Amino acid sequence: MARYTGPDCKLCRRENVKLFLKGSRCLSKKCAVDKRPNTPPGHQGSGRRRKPSDYAVQLREKQKARRMYGLLEDQFQRTFDAAERLPGVTGENFLRLLELRLDNVVYRLGFGSSRDQARQLVNHGHFQVNGRKASIPSIQLGTGDVITVRPGSKNREFFKNQAEFGSPRQAIPEWLQLDAEAMTGRIVGQPGRSDLETTINEQLIVEYYSR
Ligand code: SF4
Repeated sequence: MARYTGPDCKLCRRENVKLFLKGSRCLSKKCAVDKRPNTPPGHQGSGRRRKPSDYAVQLREKQKARRMYGLLEDQFQRTFDAAERLPGVTGENFLRLLELRLDNVVYRLGFGSSRDQARQLVNHGHFQVNGRKASIPSIQLGTGDVITVRPGSKNREFFKNQAEFGSPRQAIPEWLQLDAEAMTGRIVGQPGRSDLETTINEQLIVEYYSR
């Protein structure tokens, strides 16, 4: 699967928001957005900036969310199309589908320090879902699903060295339950709007795809 391999911090600087793509570095003083806010890559700081068009605002919001979840455009669009087919509010459905991807759940449980690392861990076959090996990051999970580090992986240095799981950025959300000792997480409900990424304005993304 093709994926973006350029510098992560450049993406945050482009969107002028912390996308939390680099684990603990994002919480340190080295964060490029904290050090140099309002300096998009390539911007020399001279000249007047024009007011962005509605389209530009919608595009930037879509790009911000896509980069935050680390998806390519076609994956992102497919997820949006699936959200449109669901009953309810499309924007919320969309964010919920993104949250319920296996790689994102692994990240939320703190097994990986970033979504990128969580995706790599899934790709490398370190997890089971409901007792069966699951190595496809885009698997959609639902209430009652149980995510476990595979028995053969529990003794790996990477997992053993993480005495306590849990994202350094935020507490485990209420729709997830973590048994750190057993290296197991369970989905105990559906994420509500307040559990979803609060920095994303999903309505702008709906407008972008509805053009
Ligand atoms: Fe880099 Fe993380 Fe800061 Fe983004 S949030 S600029 S990825 S350190």
